[in-house]
Amino acid sequence: MLELWRRVKNWYYHWYLNRRYPRVKERGLTRAKAKLGVGKGWHNLVDQVYDICDVYDIVVSDVKQKYAGLRVAWWWPEHAEDYEPDYDGVTQALLTLEDDSYRICEECGQAGEPVEVHGWWYTLCAACRERMEAEHDKKVDRIVASSG
Ligand SMILES: [Zn+2]
Repeated sequence: MLELWRRVKNWYYHWYLNRRYPRVKERGLTRAKAKLGVGKGWHNLVDQVYDICDVYDIVVSDVKQKYAGLRVAWWWPEHAEDYEPDYDGVTQALLTLEDDSYRICEECGQAGEPVEVHGWWYTLCAACRERMEAEHDKKVDRIVASSG
């Protein structure tokens, strides 16, 4: 009975991950390459993601910022069945890191919050938000000046 339950749970997990992360590549992103996808302030979060994934041989296929939050797409390896990881626990740990990103400035790593800067959402501290808005304004000024 327990064996059947384990199989059902495993099947469900494959189905769920397949649905959530279709067309995943077997060869995932390296840790260094993943860091290029987000700001320096989140590199520590990305390291924590990889520290977990390395233990379980999880394939990370995508790391990015979306709507101010960290998004990680990942995949259990085929041989995960052999070592029966705590699927729920590992999934929860990775989702918790995504949640944490909403409180960490993506630019500098200080405490931050989701903010909108000219139509785009980021998680930023007050100083980085100010800088980003100023940079945007400068860009707009240049475009206006060059088209004027
Ligand atoms: Zn900041």
